[in-house]
Amino acid sequence: MPASEFSRKAVFRKTLVYTLPMKLHTKIGLGLVLGALVGGLCNFFFEDAPWLEFISENIMFPAGQVFLRMLFMTVVPIVFTSITLGVAGIGDMKTLGRLGGRTFGYFALSTAIAATIGLTLVNTIKPGGGLPEETREELMVKFATGAEGMMTKGPPDFGVSTFVNIVPRNPVAAAADMDMLALIFFALMFGAALTMIPRERAQPVLNVLEGIGEAIIAIINWAMKLAPYGVFALIFVITSEFGWGILTQLGMYVFVVLLGLILHATIGISGLVAFFGKMNPIAFWRSIGAPIITGFSTSSSMATLPTSIATAEKQLDVQPKIAGFVLPLGATMNMNGTSLFEGVTVLFLAQVFGVDLSLTAQLVVVVLAVLTAIGAAGVPGGSLPLMMLVMATVGVPPEGIAIILGVDRILDMSRTTLNVCGDISASVYIDRVDREMEGLDPAEPVILREQKGAA
Ligand code: ASP
Repeated sequence: MPASEFSRKAVFRKTLVYTLPMKLHTKIGLGLVLGALVGGLCNFFFEDAPWLEFISENIMFPAGQVFLRMLFMTVVPIVFTSITLGVAGIGDMKTLGRLGGRTFGYFALSTAIAATIGLTLVNTIKPGGGLPEETREELMVKFATGAEGMMTKGPPDFGVSTFVNIVPRNPVAAAADMDMLALIFFALMFGAALTMIPRERAQPVLNVLEGIGEAIIAIINWAMKLAPYGVFALIFVITSEFGWGILTQLGMYVFVVLLGLILHATIGISGLVAFFGKMNPIAFWRSIGAPIITGFSTSSSMATLPTSIATAEKQLDVQPKIAGFVLPLGATMNMNGTSLFEGVTVLFLAQVFGVDLSLTAQLVVVVLAVLTAIGAAGVPGGSLPLMMLVMATVGVPPEGIAIILGVDRILDMSRTTLNVCGDISASVYIDRVDREMEGLDPAEPVILREQKGAA
């Protein structure tokens, strides 16, 4: 029996079932809105009240962290089991190569489109041109401590060693350090190796991994029950501290980033979903409410990964082996929103500091924004250290990052949402390609999805 056949039948006899209760994302949405409202009002009326700080630090912050940690603790096992099972399910090396090549191609294309949209907007609107000198200095002073923390660590090294380090010396250490690229590399190798050894030896290992995967999903189900409260707490902490005042100082810049993200969602991702995924974009957007809300409130692609996998499988009928393969890769490497944000921010700060970037320098920004978006960790603020590297490369003072730190939370929430949507769109495309390669009727799931989307 060919490897692909045994693995397809055996590995996915039982698919990992994750039940997202129907009303849950409505509840999470409510948590989000109420948290923002209550936090914003508290900031407005009682900005410096000690009791507010006490509640924020001792009740809301820990509550939000418990929720985030519940999700984070599932990330290593879910990435390892889903990628290994995904690769073993895809089976033969040739199919894996073709699907893998298309996955990376799609990631690169969508990320580059996003960065280009960002650069076009920032060149047209020029939000950094009009920022008064005093505002710039005031913001630099206010957020200097945050930036200093990053400066002492310095921008990370980026070069040949970045690629060498993708191959872990020790997979257990990679998992312990949450070094996702290295963990993914090991899981890809491990899954591929399981298809090469005799079936009777591979099968027990696959069964164990399936069992681990199912148990982790049960934990995620518990974590998601906490989500409405966790989300309330996370948003409250941000809005009660910052309020909305700072938005007025950097209004134009925030506007350009958000406009870019919206344009990339409505034109970029929708276009890619229609063209490559052959799916009605409206049905796509209607189906992915839960990961949108989770991405927005956690600011972490990694923390949203379990919800993305569940939604791709349940709402979009993406085959588990494809969701398990594409989405963990995407959560680590495919960050459309981040590359757009980086492009806009680097150019905005260049405008603020009066650094004139030539067209070539801007192209370097696009390429580096795509590369660093691949390298950024899918955690809150994961891209900031790498963005300082892009700034330094094109001659924009990296400590200028202090200027935007105050608004970064809201931008992080928004760009993470787009990162997650880009990943799910990739899984829709790869699922269609796989169905075609397997000789299955690609129209059937499309009809199913559209019916669900319209319901
Ligand atoms: N928070 C983002 C994510 O998890 C990464 C970043 O842009 O900082 O996708």
